[in-house]
Amino acid sequence: MTGRHAAGDGYRRGSTLVTGIGELVTCDGSGPDGLGLRTDAAVVVDGDRVAWVGAAAAAPAADRVVDVDGRAVLPGLVDSHAHLVFAGDRGAEFSARMAGTPYDGGGIGVSVAATRAASDDELRRLLADRVAEMRSQGTTTVEVKSGYGLTVQDEARALRLAAEVTSETTFLGAHVVPPEYAADRAAYLDLVTGPMLEAAAPHARWVDVFCEPHSAHAFTAEEARAVLVAGRDAGLGLRVHGNQLGHGPGVQLAVELGAASVDHCTYLSGDDVDALADASDTTVATLLPGVEFSTRSPYPDAEGLLRAGVSIALATDCNPGTCYSSSMPFVIALAVREMGLTPGQAVHAATAGSAKSLRRTDIGRIAVGTRADLAVLDAPSHVHLSYRAGVPIARTLELR
Ligand SMILES: [Zn+2]
Repeated sequence: MTGRHAAGDGYRRGSTLVTGIGELVTCDGSGPDGLGLRTDAAVVVDGDRVAWVGAAAAAPAADRVVDVDGRAVLPGLVDSHAHLVFAGDRGAEFSARMAGTPYDGGGIGVSVAATRAASDDELRRLLADRVAEMRSQGTTTVEVKSGYGLTVQDEARALRLAAEVTSETTFLGAHVVPPEYAADRAAYLDLVTGPMLEAAAPHARWVDVFCEPHSAHAFTAEEARAVLVAGRDAGLGLRVHGNQLGHGPGVQLAVELGAASVDHCTYLSGDDVDALADASDTTVATLLPGVEFSTRSPYPDAEGLLRAGVSIALATDCNPGTCYSSSMPFVIALAVREMGLTPGQAVHAATAGSAKSLRRTDIGRIAVGTRADLAVLDAPSHVHLSYRAGVPIARTLELR
């Protein structure tokens, strides 16, 4: 390979003018909900970066022109929480849950067994299909966690495969305590914080833990702290699954350790909200309403969190147990209908908000120098993402 446009970077040589944009959502922080809306706009993309943003009438020439004919263009959606490396599904568990069986995290073992039994090629194909499904709905960045291997080899394999599709890879060896360690949790913790972390870290940017005292399969505050501190010492950033099944210590632990994100936040006390508001520059509350939908749980009050000064993000948590949806537009619609957000607040949380939870400033907004990750709607406004719920109007704007 030679040159910055050599085969392998996937982008066309030269520049592209995207014009005819009826509504451009820049998420530059200005205007209502920080959406930075512009009408009759154009964007010039050069290679993999945005090179110019402005009025269509003033746009410079480019090597190629794409006219989107009045459609809305927004930053590619950022799905900052997903579990995509798994085999099999758990449709029967979903069906039982809808018939009244409560969820306690135990079903993860079913996916662990199926994933361990799958070949590299099978997992690679499943992962590629899921990423393609996301792109077709407007998602341009996805975080991918391990957590269905739970052995040194299987966790390292999951992260190695995940790193083939994203730079946002997260080691989740502390997803659940696998059945073979049920009688000796301390030994599993030693494995996760020792040899498993050592094998995983070269392929991971983040470490995560399912901190949930309400599940016998998940990890207590003390155990979660050990996992996070070990991950931090290995150079990984911190993320936490917390406060999903009931009030718990996950939020306070995440804030105390300066985690980039604490995810779920289904059950929050007043102290939790205060802590998140005080830490809003550091720790983002990532809300996963597809999980509340798929587990018939109460939705957190996203509008109240915003009003309190908390930084929020939206993500799918796409996984075979508690939310087998890869659709960020679905999540945006749920956030509007069930969590009190305006359409604009939900779009901001699913772009700039989730980018912040990944500590990224090059995605989740459209400005000179950001990545040329654009989504386009078969609609004139971002409002239609929730207004036309369930209709496939969003897709990635492919400039390759
Ligand atoms: Zn999750």
